[in-house]
Formats: sequence, structure tokens, C-alpha cells
Amino acid sequence: MDIRIRCPGPGCGLEISDPDKHCPVCGIDLEPLLKLIETGHYYYNEALKNIAAKDFFAAIESLAVARAFNPRDAGLCVLTGKAYIEMGQLEKAAEFFVRAYRLDRAGKEAINGLQWLSEAGVSLNMSSLL
Ligand SMILES: [Zn+2]
Repeated sequence: MDIRIRCPGPGCGLEISDPDKHCPVCGIDLEPLLKLIETGHYYYNEALKNIAAKDFFAAIESLAVARAFNPRDAGLCVLTGKAYIEMGQLEKAAEFFVRAYRLDRAGKEAINGLQWLSEAGVSLNMSSLL
């Protein structure tokens, strides 16, 4: 998985792809941040394993941890929504597709998910999408 981060250095905020250990501009140590991201990826991979094993409850738990590490990752919200659909918890699914949409308005999967839910009879609160 390719990693893109925004440097957390004070007044820096440089966008870095495939970051090294230090920010090339301000020199701040990026390792703690990269560790957090890696831990998030670990739980994301666990969730994929849980889903493959059809253990959706475990997947939702793994995804909750992954989201704690990468709270702005729309893909994690989409996957959580899908796991809730598998568990038949459509309102919860809608909540996570809305979250995904708010994080990434161009994301097709969140929109498709919401459309599917609406066709399945879930009433969506459209104002939550604004
Ligand atoms: Zn920096």
C-alpha cells in the first residue's frame, strides 16, 4: 500500500508520498507517525482476513481499530458499511457510507452503497450528506 502523509511539523504540512524517516523540509522525525499508519494497515489487513472468513463481527472490530489510526480514510468506512450489510444491520451500514461520502465526495463506492441501501428500503437522511 502506498503511503501519503501530511507532515505534522509545526508550520510545515508538506505532502509527502512514500515518506522517509524524516521530513525533507523541516526535518521532523516521521517515524512515530509512520508506525501509527502501519498499525492501521495491520488492522485493515486483519479485517480483510476476517471478511474472507465471513467473520463480519470480527471484521467490524478490526476496522474500528484501523479507523482509530486512520480516521480520515474513506475506504475503511466503506468496508465497515459493507460488513454491516453482511450482518443485516442496514442503518449502521448507512451511517458508515455517509461517513465515507463526507470524507471523499468523489468516492463511487460510498454513493453506490447509499443507493443500494435506499433501494433496499433504508430511509436515508439526505441532509447528513451536505
Ligand atoms: Zn515537515
